[in-house]
Amino acid sequence: MVRNVVLGLGVIVLLATIANCAEPNAAPEQKKPEVIQWVEVDGQKWMVHDEKRPMAPVVTPGEASCDGKVGTAPSDAVVLFDGNDISNWEGVKNPKGPFPWKMGEGYFETVKDAGFIRTKQKFGSCQLHIEFATPEKVIGSSQGRGNSGVFLMEIYEIQVLDNYNNKTYTDGQCGALYGRNPPLVNVCRKPGEWQSYDIVFHRPTFKDGKVDRKARFTVFQNGVLIQDNVELQGGTGWMGPHAISDYFPHGDKGALSLQDHGNPVKFRNIWVRELKD
Ligand code: MG
Repeated sequence: MVRNVVLGLGVIVLLATIANCAEPNAAPEQKKPEVIQWVEVDGQKWMVHDEKRPMAPVVTPGEASCDGKVGTAPSDAVVLFDGNDISNWEGVKNPKGPFPWKMGEGYFETVKDAGFIRTKQKFGSCQLHIEFATPEKVIGSSQGRGNSGVFLMEIYEIQVLDNYNNKTYTDGQCGALYGRNPPLVNVCRKPGEWQSYDIVFHRPTFKDGKVDRKARFTVFQNGVLIQDNVELQGGTGWMGPHAISDYFPHGDKGALSLQDHGNPVKFRNIWVRELKD
């Protein structure tokens, strides 16, 4: 009797197992129709994963500055200053005169009252790399300490300042779009140490005498993001203790210029890559 019950249970378990392993009564798999999608970029239409679409141009990267060794530019950059050749630069006060700033070993340095310097070549939207060092010997405070500036198109200033334990107004601190937008963080190195800016600038455009598309800035200082695709709301020119310039119409390209603010600030390893607007 007990043996028959055990056998009966065994048969039930076996049948249940076979039932679970049986093929489901599914419809035969149907081949999906091929989906072809197209994308449009800069007026050109491409099939997704189209192998005929041109590959990105090859660029050999430069070396970053490290441990006292000065970096180099990528292969498609315009080298504006390699530490020796100043042929791309001129004084703003006297463009035909001698280079007005002090030359050092692998750098040039602002000279009080010598005025701004600027590139002879003009640029619009661009990627700019520049390295700077504020004076090792700390003199002055607030805006009077290691002040210079990087000007795109000779108009739009990214502030250079010694802000290592130096309080000032926030829209004028190092890395600010002067008078407009403070940096996200203060990532300044100590006075005398070399620092870097990597700037992506898209120029403003103008229509009927008014700004049609405002300028945009993305800036890294010492590799840290300090301006995140910021739309510049107006000019950066100082107009008084609590005033700033507005946009005014100008051409598609302008020189890159560096400010003489009366403090000896050094610059080196400057290169630029032109970008599409
Ligand atoms: Mg300045």
